[in-house]
Amino acid sequence: MLLWKPILEVIIIWWVIYALFRLIQGTRAVQVLMGVIFFALMFQLTRLMGLQTINWVMGKLLAIGVIALLIIFQPELRRALARVGQNTMLRSFLKEGGILDEVVRACEVMSKKKVGALIAVEREVGLKNYVESGIAIDAQVTSELLLSIFFPKSPLHDGGVIIVGDRIASSGSLFPLTQNVNISKSLGTRHRAAIGLTEETDAVSIVVSEETGGISVSVYGKLTRDLDGEGLKRVLKGLFKSKGKEKFSFTGLWRGFKNEGEVADRQSGT
Ligand code: ATP
Ligand code: MG
Repeated sequence: MLLWKPILEVIIIWWVIYALFRLIQGTRAVQVLMGVIFFALMFQLTRLMGLQTINWVMGKLLAIGVIALLIIFQPELRRALARVGQNTMLRSFLKEGGILDEVVRACEVMSKKKVGALIAVEREVGLKNYVESGIAIDAQVTSELLLSIFFPKSPLHDGGVIIVGDRIASSGSLFPLTQNVNISKSLGTRHRAAIGLTEETDAVSIVVSEETGGISVSVYGKLTRDLDGEGLKRVLKGLFKSKGKEKFSFTGLWRGFKNEGEVADRQSGT
């Protein structure tokens, strides 16, 4: 019969309130939410009782409370939404014929021709400072464009390319050189710059050696050397898959919120 509708509504409302409470447990937002719920109840009550003036005031206070909640949650909301966008980007990175394939194809060609290249792919940590150290490009990632950038006579070939999302953000960017003394003396500045960047950020950097044509990948200060095209593809897939697979879901959004909350709690020492 028509009974399923109110039941569904109650379940959804219950779930939303429960989720909100879990979300803000132990934070200052609890008080604000309690306030908002109080005003919402008073708003309904005064309406039912026909107390128009108080009802009007309650309506205004309720609206202010909702806006206050949005402001208090602004950092969490922003990060949670950014995460949704990021996952979409990661999927476009991995999909067949996507950015990953373009990068691998360009590296295979440069490896064969012994053209030196340095490419960094942004992950969670923003690379804005490094982008600004180079020449802004902002173009779709294609193997042809990567090849023309690293073409040895090109004015753009010195320094590194940075890929942000599905765009080539810059070329000629300067990365910090690693100070690690345990790194093989045979590795020059291009490789040291690739490693240095991944010591300071969570970016992934890819190097094609001008001397040997070997392809290397660096993450978190570690360098994997002597890869071929297939090897590069496998390593990059592994690095981006675990995150890219996370499709958008409310539970995912929820987890994002929760982690942010925990981080904030640790930072504020509560
Ligand atoms: P290869 O095997 O290709 O010779 P390498 O590790 O031996 O690489 P070098 O021969 O010193 O490195 O490569 C020099 C090139 O590295 C420069 O022309 C420049 O393009 C790039 N490079 C050097 N330092 C940086 C830096 N800090 N950031 C980005 N790129 C850099
Ligand atoms: Mg060299």
